[in-house]
Amino acid sequence: MSVELASRMQRLGTETAFEVLVRARALEAQGRDVVHLEIGEPDFDTPENIVEAGARALREGWTHYGPAAGLPDLREAIASYVNGSRGTSYTPDQVVVTPGGKPVMFFVMLALLERGHEAIYPDPGFPIYGSMIDFSGAKGVPIPLREENDFRLDIDELASLMSDRTRLLILNSPANPTGGVLEREDLAAIAELAVKHDVIVLSDEIYSELLYEGEHVSIATMPGMAERTIILDGFSKTYAMTGWRLGYGLFPGDLAAPISKLMVNSVSCTSMAVQRAGLEALTGPQDKVAEFREAFRRRRDLIVNGLNEIEGISCVLPKGAFYAFPNITGTGRSSKEFADLLLEEHGVAALAGTSFGAAGEGYLRLSYATSEANIEKALARVADAVSAVRA
Ligand code: PLP
Repeated sequence: MSVELASRMQRLGTETAFEVLVRARALEAQGRDVVHLEIGEPDFDTPENIVEAGARALREGWTHYGPAAGLPDLREAIASYVNGSRGTSYTPDQVVVTPGGKPVMFFVMLALLERGHEAIYPDPGFPIYGSMIDFSGAKGVPIPLREENDFRLDIDELASLMSDRTRLLILNSPANPTGGVLEREDLAAIAELAVKHDVIVLSDEIYSELLYEGEHVSIATMPGMAERTIILDGFSKTYAMTGWRLGYGLFPGDLAAPISKLMVNSVSCTSMAVQRAGLEALTGPQDKVAEFREAFRRRRDLIVNGLNEIEGISCVLPKGAFYAFPNITGTGRSSKEFADLLLEEHGVAALAGTSFGAAGEGYLRLSYATSEANIEKALARVADAVSAVRA
């Protein structure tokens, strides 16, 4: 018997990374060797002090329900970390702690968008943005990010897409999947447009600690933006805590209250022991964050230099996050064809650029959150695949 779904389910997308992972694992089960460059998560273990804090919390009895918006100590630590790293002035009651950063997207779209609204989102960009905008009933308006502009959005193009219907603009810097970063002058110009059109900005800053040059700038610091910016951040990428599920949002005005209500209606609260681990992550030693960043920088240089040595492929240097987004148009294959070929014939799991939107055609996303040995193995295999299709 097939169960009939509510029509809204037809509007829900997904994340291809998890599908490619399943296909790669099936090949491995047949005895094939696969290098995994598909999933966007640090390969490092969570630092020991954080693991210990989580384990200790469980032993100490942090095993009950807690406040929907998060533990007061953690909300305070988050506000102070964000204010210290960005120069903002959020108060702890503007913070809602969530099981991962992803629920912030889900809750924001449910709370703010409906039929008749438009929401502008980056293309290529994190696939859940478009999926959740569609789910809310609003119209998604992709803004292309182009290689010739270092994958920053074009301000004139953004201006042309904004109208009275625009309710929300999603930004992601440093960005998944391109590694692109919005410069201070980009953010200033975007802020002017957001104020002019009375638009709320969801600023996904989950990769803010994985920036290889300069300092992270949040659009929340631009004039008129504190009252219209939602910052999304979390522990997954910075502290190698993807499986713990811990993230947060910082909300303008009194938006934290309806978001907390969505928490009550969905998960009640984020796991208490996990929040205690998060408190240790923010308030304990930070040397691992710098160590991870330096390891990612070495891997970035290795993969980008290696890709640029392959005839038929070119790759701009990503300024942040842990993804390379090479141009593969020189192979003569579409993104999907080349990604399938890489996985099935050459044992490299990568994502087609089109998994992140139509403007991703002609690109692949390679996550370099893996060892240098794996990156070298993958580069040799990509070179073989390119020679095979160009022969
Ligand atoms: N935002 C972006 C751009 C991401 O790439 C991810 C994870 O891949 C997330 C948010 C969500 O991360 P999490 O829910 O693990 O905090």
